[in-house]
Amino acid sequence: MPGPDTIIYGGNTPCVEVRIGKRLIILDAGTGIANLGSKLMQEPGPVCGDIFITHVHWDHIQGFPFFKPAYRKGNSFCLYGESKENVSFAELIKRTMEHPHFPVPLENLRAALYFTEIEPGDMLDLGDGITVRTTANNHPDGGISYRIQYGNKSCCYVTDYEHGSEKARGLLELCAGTDLLIYDAHFTATEYPRYQGWGHSTWEEGLALLEAAGAGRLIFFHHKPERSDEEIAALEAGITGQYPTARAAKEGMVISL
Ligand SMILES: [Zn+2]
Ligand SMILES: [Zn+2]
Repeated sequence: MPGPDTIIYGGNTPCVEVRIGKRLIILDAGTGIANLGSKLMQEPGPVCGDIFITHVHWDHIQGFPFFKPAYRKGNSFCLYGESKENVSFAELIKRTMEHPHFPVPLENLRAALYFTEIEPGDMLDLGDGITVRTTANNHPDGGISYRIQYGNKSCCYVTDYEHGSEKARGLLELCAGTDLLIYDAHFTATEYPRYQGWGHSTWEEGLALLEAAGAGRLIFFHHKPERSDEEIAALEAGITGQYPTARAAKEGMVISL
């Protein structure tokens, strides 16, 4: 939630940019993708990229209609996500831009858009030595976690994921030895019992996965909307002594691997 209490850690909903050489990968199209789009519009030449959507809950797609590069001819994007209840992934995105939800229908966007349906467990080869592995999320309406691998470097994007299900084994395998783990830290362990079944995890479970997977760094992600900068800073301060590679995600944070 944007406002004076969420300036440092951010008030946007999920969007993460990954750069590997000239390749652009975007993880989720929450409201953060609007700022990313403005930045990309300033880069020379056509913008091409791969956009991976974890699931189509509003907070992960609501920025897409405001992603300016999708309106410019010559740009091209491949979007990846799941179909749901016999509705194709392309159709799910298209519906969010139909009247009366939004005045510009998807087919009027001038960039070339290619939709690819994927399922948890798929392995994708993006070319240029980049691979993407996936696993199923434990979350209402499902979802996908991603591991992006390039040479011996990797990062895992795990959000909208509730720990403690039979899916945990798949997640542990996905995250094994990764350099960077971006993890759903919506709740704290103290808050969690009241929200069991909501499909989100905790700071403490993130630390447990960091250790179990032998991951390099941990980024606490998908902050509880009403959690203030002050509260997140306090949570972070309580952890970094013991876990120096663990940090809370911040708006505009840049990490080089
Ligand atoms: Zn969700
Ligand atoms: Zn979410």
